[in-house]
Amino acid sequence: MSKVGNPSLMTQMIARDVLELRRAVAEWRQKGHTVALVPTMGAIHAGHLSLISKAKSLCDRVIASAFVNPTQFDENEDLNAYPANEEEDVRALVSVGTNLVFCPNRKDIYPEGFSTVISISGLTSGLCGPLRPGHFDGVVTVVTKLFLQSLPDIAVFGEKDYQQLLVIRQLAKDLNIPVDIVGAPTVREEDGLAMSSRNRYLSEKERVIAPELYRILKMAAERVIVRPNDCELSCRNARAELLENGFEAVDYINICHAETLEPLTAYKPPARIFGAVRLGKARLIDNILIS
Ligand code: AMP
Repeated sequence: MSKVGNPSLMTQMIARDVLELRRAVAEWRQKGHTVALVPTMGAIHAGHLSLISKAKSLCDRVIASAFVNPTQFDENEDLNAYPANEEEDVRALVSVGTNLVFCPNRKDIYPEGFSTVISISGLTSGLCGPLRPGHFDGVVTVVTKLFLQSLPDIAVFGEKDYQQLLVIRQLAKDLNIPVDIVGAPTVREEDGLAMSSRNRYLSEKERVIAPELYRILKMAAERVIVRPNDCELSCRNARAELLENGFEAVDYINICHAETLEPLTAYKPPARIFGAVRLGKARLIDNILIS
């Protein structure tokens, strides 16, 4: 029987509250182990597992958190429809070397009377920021809590959510949280679609359209390498192509400085192209380095 095929061992791999989490971390610390944290909202896929592998390569022990954070959901996105299967998630996470999965209840993270919100300006002023009011406040507040609860040496985040990665780096820097924020590359399906828990919302027909986002972002990126002054034109063309290819709406297509996220009118490295589109029930985001 595999390690996680045994139900009691499976229970041992899960921390249900902060006390259990802290107890495990304290034991590891006593033995001199280094600790990595990989925050997720569950609905585990190969993208998440690549973050665990990265964490594993850098630290002795890896904690994955699986918490669907209500405060980072938009009013339009149904929190209750978010895919959840704890047993499957824990099995997958443990199979790639996760040492502990932190699965807190909502009331452990947000007990009655919870009143604190951490808010970051600057990096959140563009891209997803204005379109998802309160989203990044929800993210940084819960991530701060996870950092303080587990006190890891490093935390790994995906470049798939590149704006989030930079925002969290800023958070750690601004608040002197002693954790190294490590970025990991986007894992894609064979056809180029960035893996995402939200891909499960796509119908068969929409799933065929979805990889066009990556293809069109790549084409726009190639165009500005050849014509650096054409950032706006390339983004406009990409937007039109996305709509022609069946996406229902384009929230944004922007070329931005890869560290400040300032929109660029002329391409100059380091830069990335970012896209957010609507397709059926899903909102898909993607971004690539222009090089
Ligand atoms: P989520 O569960 O969607 O909140 O994502 C948890 C973490 O996994 C975040 O750091 C994401 O950026 C990262 N992630 C999500 N999808 C991917 C992917 N396709 N490749 C790499 N990392 C990803």
